[in-house]
Amino acid sequence: MTDLATADRPIAAESTFYNAVVSRRVDLTESLAFVWVRYTGEPVAFEPGQYLTIGVESNGKLVQRPYSVASSARETTEGYEFYVRLVTGGLFTPLLWRLDVGHDMSMKGPKGKFVLEPDDDRTHVFISSGTGIAPFISMMKTLLADGTPRPAVVLHGASYQHDLGYRELLEEWESDATYPVRYVPTVSRPGTSENEAWPGRVGRVEAIVADVFEEYALDPDNSIAYICGNPDMIATVDQLLLRRGYPAEQVKKELYWPKGKEPRAAGVTTPQP
Ligand SMILES: Cc1cc2nc3c(=O)[nH]c(=O)nc-3n(C[C@H](O)[C@H](O)[C@H](O)COP(=O)(O)OP(=O)(O)OC[C@H]3O[C@@H](n4cnc5c(N)ncnc54)[C@H](O)[C@@H]3O)c2cc1C
Repeated sequence: MTDLATADRPIAAESTFYNAVVSRRVDLTESLAFVWVRYTGEPVAFEPGQYLTIGVESNGKLVQRPYSVASSARETTEGYEFYVRLVTGGLFTPLLWRLDVGHDMSMKGPKGKFVLEPDDDRTHVFISSGTGIAPFISMMKTLLADGTPRPAVVLHGASYQHDLGYRELLEEWESDATYPVRYVPTVSRPGTSENEAWPGRVGRVEAIVADVFEEYALDPDNSIAYICGNPDMIATVDQLLLRRGYPAEQVKKELYWPKGKEPRAAGVTTPQP
């Protein structure tokens, strides 16, 4: 494996690109983290579902990538929260993993059209794999802050139960009815020691979609679907929903990387969702 997170990839402490700072970081696992980045100047408003592009300077070049905001659009003082996976052999995330809180960064945006439809009281079916749950957390936190939560069913797939970011929050919202949400997590590697005693559904998220739509009586008249995460999952779920009669404009999609694309560094494997 090529270790790109080494001395031949220095991170500039100062740069004319920098206009933001890492304000907080919480690690969920070795390769999943919640990272907050704050503009050093005034915060910029965003719509939940949009993304910002963050980066650092290395060897005179700005290395940057887009990330969906996971935090509420109504709370920007601490910075924007991102839920990020470390991609082994990736160009940017190994650099991000080396940054301490307080390190300067570049940040641009917001951008993106993966946003909520206005005044839509249908059930929102949020389908995601891995870190693709981030924009849905922002949407629900913002709706909650506005006092206008919309009924939601959240399907979230991960390899292991410890990779299910925001599980606690969603379970709490569901159990105390803070938010009218049904949370449906699934793990794709049952039978492993990490998933021992897992009480929930098993299989990739695309494999549970049909069952969940049946169980919750979701149809094109009463619901709208938003899908985010890895491109193969999105393509599969999109086709499935079109076959169930959803018009194309009622299935909204955000791809985290183009279909069929592998990490750029040589000799690395694409991580599982
Ligand atoms: C609009 C948008 C929003 C995004 N939001 C997020 C987000 O909230 N959280 C997040 O972790 N990523 C997000 N991404 C992906 C992110 O921009 C980077 O592509 C990712 O962090 C890898 O960057 P890298 O430079 O380390 O890898 P690169 O050198 O760019 O290699 C990228 C390759 O790694 C693989 N890959 C990329 N992302 C992942 C992933 N999350 N899991 C597994 N394999 C992956 C793909 O094969 C991809 O082609 C988003 C992408 C887009 C376009």
